Amino acid sequence: MQTVEAKRQAAETALLKRAFALAAEEGFQGTDEASILERIGAKVSIVQGSEKNIKVTNAEDLKLAEALCEDLKSGDVGMSVFRVGHGFDAHKLVEGRPLVLGGEVIPHDRGLLGHSDADVLVHALCDALLGAAGLGDIGQHFPDSDPAYKGISSIVLLGEVGGKVYRQGFRLINADMTLIAQRPKLSKYFPAMIGNIRNALGVTRSCLNLKATTTEQMGFTGRDEGMAAQAVVCLMKKDQVPLTD
Ligand code: MG
Repeated sequence: MQTVEAKRQAAETALLKRAFALAAEEGFQGTDEASILERIGAKVSIVQGSEKNIKVTNAEDLKLAEALCEDLKSGDVGMSVFRVGHGFDAHKLVEGRPLVLGGEVIPHDRGLLGHSDADVLVHALCDALLGAAGLGDIGQHFPDSDPAYKGISSIVLLGEVGGKVYRQGFRLINADMTLIAQRPKLSKYFPAMIGNIRNALGVTRSCLNLKATTTEQMGFTGRDEGMAAQAVVCLMKKDQVPLTD
């Protein structure tokens, strides 16, 4: 008999049946299967186990166990693991800079200030992707102290972030992005922005959703001092992601 974290147990079926039969015959009430097995002299030990070896107690557990068995039969031994990440970014609006959002140059009287092209939307998306994959944030990967990233297109950085995330075995289920700006009206640029993001990440259109809002003249975005963006992403990994360290 083998146990992991006392919740996940495995035993040879014949041995377990014999232990139960003897316990029933002799009216022995064990605290669990391990105690019943030990009573007949079986050695119980703790070994490295699998999260897929679930405890089947009720009908719902049985359905999950059947699904896991189907995965095993098809050669796909992994469970799907979903991870969510959130990104937020803000940049100041200044004169003499182009306004770049979602990889598009938007005609405007000012642009966002930053070491790169200051594409606030793409930065928020990069952070959400890195966050979901547990890979830190954009500043760790592309520090603004590094001259290599001065003036760089953030869409290029997004492509690199996508590569880092995909190499960890994740794929993007969806990303939901919100631009926060008092002006200009941005919706007519959405198709182009989404096209740029799609190309950088190599994902289908249905993975991406983009929205924009004002803050009704409140706060730094409302006073038109800067722009902000938020992004939430869901990643899926089909493999043996350890659920515990
Ligand atoms: Mg930024």
